[in-house]
Amino acid sequence: MDSVFEGTFPTGAGPEEILPQDALSILPFAPEAITAWATQNDLHTYINKLLAGTGYEDQADIRLEGAIQVVLELADQFTEIATQSEPAPRARTQSVSLVDFKHDPVFGRLAKALIAWQETIANVLSEAGYFSLSHMLETRSDLMCSVQLASGLYYRQAMQVLRGFIESVILPIYFCKQPDEYKEWKSNDYRSPTLRGDKGVLPRLRKAGIISVEMENTISEAYDLLNGYIHGNEEKLNNTGLDRGEWEGHVFQPVRFQAWANVCASLIEASLPLVKINLSQWAAAKSDWDLFCHVCHGHDLETQQQRDDPPMTQFRCKQCSHTFWQDDDDQQFVHATVEFSD
Ligand SMILES: [Zn+2]
Repeated sequence: MDSVFEGTFPTGAGPEEILPQDALSILPFAPEAITAWATQNDLHTYINKLLAGTGYEDQADIRLEGAIQVVLELADQFTEIATQSEPAPRARTQSVSLVDFKHDPVFGRLAKALIAWQETIANVLSEAGYFSLSHMLETRSDLMCSVQLASGLYYRQAMQVLRGFIESVILPIYFCKQPDEYKEWKSNDYRSPTLRGDKGVLPRLRKAGIISVEMENTISEAYDLLNGYIHGNEEKLNNTGLDRGEWEGHVFQPVRFQAWANVCASLIEASLPLVKINLSQWAAAKSDWDLFCHVCHGHDLETQQQRDDPPMTQFRCKQCSHTFWQDDDDQQFVHATVEFSD
């Protein structure tokens, strides 16, 4: 039987292959309007370094092209909603000042960060390098939700959602070190510890040498800032200014848009090295494990089918129904996604 398998990555790929230091060293991204992006800009370099050695190097340009199309459409969405905004009847001005998002450096830097996150997570997913698939997927949901809220002019709420993004990035690092607590969390019998404070997750990770003082401070300050949008004063509300006769209504607010976009981009840039830390932790922790399911970490597997060329066995996890192939010749190679064309 002739067969070809393709589109696969062995889960033996290490953290450095999945997220190279060379790529991380590009960060932070320069604020440049999307329309001013040169073909060899920092995002282009990031994507090329990210894909180097994965077998997908030749797709860097085409993937970037597709991603640019997506952020241009996003700019259109921001423009359309901002244009339709509704000033309060007695607002100081009825003419809303708009931003040309495609030509705006702040929006451009945010777009770079969003693309970098999507492409990085895609790499991690395709190589099954994640410790917690749930948290990894949640980071994308948190970011997309924040972007949708900001485009809809809900600035306070867009900030609030970013707090969830931080938790989705940090908790897998903590859980990888505390597997029993991870099990409790998965069985919905767990109260997450606070991130900050003497016994908080961030100082504990720093004391254990897992994150640096600088990382702890950056994330802690961002979390503090975002808390202000949950428990904060009147000025943080979307509908601020009523008592002063300065309520503007449901309108595009350039200063608040910029504040959100800068926080969002900075958080993504600060979180990419944390993804690498989690990859490294997990690679070390699972190195002596027997064959297991990469989705739920279960060991209760059953054989589904076998192939001769190449010699591979397909397993099914009895806990979560995830199926995957293992290379029979080199059993440390487990293929996350496989397509056969006979
Ligand atoms: Zn499973």
